[in-house]
Amino acid sequence: MAEKIGSKDGAVKARKSPRAASAKTSGSKTTAPKGRGKAAKAEPKIPYRPDEVAEIFRRFSVQRPEPESELEHSNPFTLLVAVVLSAQATDAGVNKATRGLFASADTPEAMAALGEDAIRDHIKTIGLYRNKAKNVLALSEALIARHGGEVPRDRAALEALPGVGRKTANVVLNVAFGEETLAVDTHIFRIGNRLKLAPGKTPDEVEARLLPIVPQPYRRHAHHWLILHGRYVCKARKPDCGACVIADLCHADEKTNAVPAELIELPARLPQPPAS
Ligand code: SF4
Repeated sequence: MAEKIGSKDGAVKARKSPRAASAKTSGSKTTAPKGRGKAAKAEPKIPYRPDEVAEIFRRFSVQRPEPESELEHSNPFTLLVAVVLSAQATDAGVNKATRGLFASADTPEAMAALGEDAIRDHIKTIGLYRNKAKNVLALSEALIARHGGEVPRDRAALEALPGVGRKTANVVLNVAFGEETLAVDTHIFRIGNRLKLAPGKTPDEVEARLLPIVPQPYRRHAHHWLILHGRYVCKARKPDCGACVIADLCHADEKTNAVPAELIELPARLPQPPAS
């Protein structure tokens, strides 16, 4: 697998540029990641039939009919700030810091008035907090100057904000505006490759291969289902195949069990471990 590096918004990213192509996904406003033009190789064949992919997402939908972001937020602005702060940090750690921050400022105007020093004080328990404090202030000022203090429902406008890259824009478009986007974080990148569902050397490749094979009506929530599956079951070091509801369908080399776990509805949000 390619070496991972940080991107503008902390998404996992590989050093090699994307090679395969993908057009706009049908039936969605989502645009393909940049750099995926005509000079593409054929898409790799995946070991799943379309009905098997549909069954995977059907089971996820039974487990969590209405999955929610684990980042605490009260409006599109606080969601945007929380996602910017979550780069290379845990959701639990971000939530611990943002409770105080958002109590003081939950609008761009209030955040700009709070100022960089106070923002930095609130988030100093999060990695890269100095840079993130600068970005939170700068994006608040940009929202006021360019968008009347509103978070735009527009990918290009979002990605033009300080500290906001494709992954952050995808999360905001999906969670705040209900669009069918797929923000490829470390969990989705791993699952796409491990299960051979959407193999790719970069998050852009995984996104462009994965989103088109997710059938309706599952595209809206595929993002959260895959993140939660990766965070709690198909974990990085040791996947918990005994607790996996798709164990019979999975084609991962790491699979240690082929009997699917009982399919029952789980809480939309699981209790989070305390932030350290
Ligand atoms: S069977 Fe194991 S490797 Fe496959 S998806 Fe489930 S947890 Fe992951």
